[in-house]
Amino acid sequence: MNFADLGLSEELLRAVHEAGYDQPTPIQASAIPSVLMMNDVIGVAQTGTGKTASFVLPMIDILAHGRRRARMPRSLILEPTRELAAQVAENFEKYGRYHNLEMALLIGGVSMGDQIKALEKGVDVLIATPGRLMDLFERGNILLTGCSLLVIDEADRMLDMGFIPDIENICTKLPKQRQTLLFSATMPPPIKKLADKFLTQPKMIEVARPATTATNIKQYLVPVRADKKRATLRTLLRQDDVRTAIIFANRKTTVRELNKSLRRSGFKSGEIHGDMDQSQRLAELDLFKKGEVTILAASDVAARGLDIKGVSHVFNFDAPWHPDDYVHRIGRTGRAGASGVAYTFVTKDDIENVENIEKLIGQKIERLADADEATAELASDADTTDRDEGAKPKKARSRGRKKADPAKSDARADKEPAAEAEKRDPEPKPRAASKRKAATKTRSEPAAPAFLAEAESEAKDDWNGPVPAFLDVKLGA
Ligand code: AMP
Repeated sequence: MNFADLGLSEELLRAVHEAGYDQPTPIQASAIPSVLMMNDVIGVAQTGTGKTASFVLPMIDILAHGRRRARMPRSLILEPTRELAAQVAENFEKYGRYHNLEMALLIGGVSMGDQIKALEKGVDVLIATPGRLMDLFERGNILLTGCSLLVIDEADRMLDMGFIPDIENICTKLPKQRQTLLFSATMPPPIKKLADKFLTQPKMIEVARPATTATNIKQYLVPVRADKKRATLRTLLRQDDVRTAIIFANRKTTVRELNKSLRRSGFKSGEIHGDMDQSQRLAELDLFKKGEVTILAASDVAARGLDIKGVSHVFNFDAPWHPDDYVHRIGRTGRAGASGVAYTFVTKDDIENVENIEKLIGQKIERLADADEATAELASDADTTDRDEGAKPKKARSRGRKKADPAKSDARADKEPAAEAEKRDPEPKPRAASKRKAATKTRSEPAAPAFLAEAESEAKDDWNGPVPAFLDVKLGA
């Protein structure tokens, strides 16, 4: 199948061709004809599957005819984060170059005045995060009664971020006669409920992560002591063929500290997390895209769904609390057929998290060979090279050499931040995450059978999505 078979206009086909795409991805092949036929659609698809173009392309053709009216957007796309909203806007620019469509981006951190001006002129496509949209709506700057096409993107992420009440509220402001498209990587019960309430006879489209992407990601667990994580990270960054990497941590504090420590060690690193304002995040992302920053320390909320191509490595500096975050995180590498490597650091406290991840992806993740020994060696290598040495990261020394005396190594300069400080500064986490955190706490107590049953049922509650999609994930290319 190629794009010409999907019923898109000549202008659009030209723009797609110029963007370098010949064949639609599975979600595009299934969703585009349905959207063009004005059906409601539920797309169960991850980022990385080409899902953005699966709604952007048909929307451009649907909106090609019709008149703009001041303050009355003709379509609305809801995104959970500013970065995702900006990415969708980029897609409209790329594919809509032969169409005369006006677009406005309503996101926090950008001047409201400009956004209001754009709305006054009339827009065909409004891309917004729920908070900013509600702000402007309540001030009377927007009327949603002319909005006949609604896209709710990354619905499960919206749920994680507590946006569902806002979305419900927004849905009631739109005309009942409209087309609604909902995309979500998973379909937990609250998202199913949302879909039942606001979509009409939707066509359900479920796609697996493209096999080429998944099979191209080599995944490893790196057993490591908590106080050796940074040293091990630096060693892996130097040792492996790391061109570009994203390093995920569970807390904002860790992200910031990591970036500082990597910079001190001479890496071209940057950071992206929820405490940064919009312009800072976009500027950092831009540096990463340009290659001026090659290692990006990131939190889940800030990085989810970001389209950063050609990342050679993903490091889970902290094993994620949520198994589906693991899938999202490692999806940053191995995109569009390129190969990638994902390392997940595991401390003794992460055993349960890792079990949940393995359950979700339906496979065991390979532990680094001779993990304990290798880690000890990696860490001792790193300890001895970790003295904020100049700008040029060195290659790791050859393995098998005499180990450094841990007593003499200077690990103090780079101790992990105190757990207490971390606790004061968590990345805002979904309700389910706090539930999990609470459960993890209890888990350090002797495990009773009743407790295991609770953990089991919690895991089921957390995951209600298309597990089979990930059963394809295999090690090695
Ligand atoms: P998304 O899932 O929308 O985040 O897209 C993931 C990546 O796939 C982006 O870099 C897109 O530019 C790219 N992409 C979108 N459509 C296609 C296609 N038909 N063929 C190859 N890559 C695509």
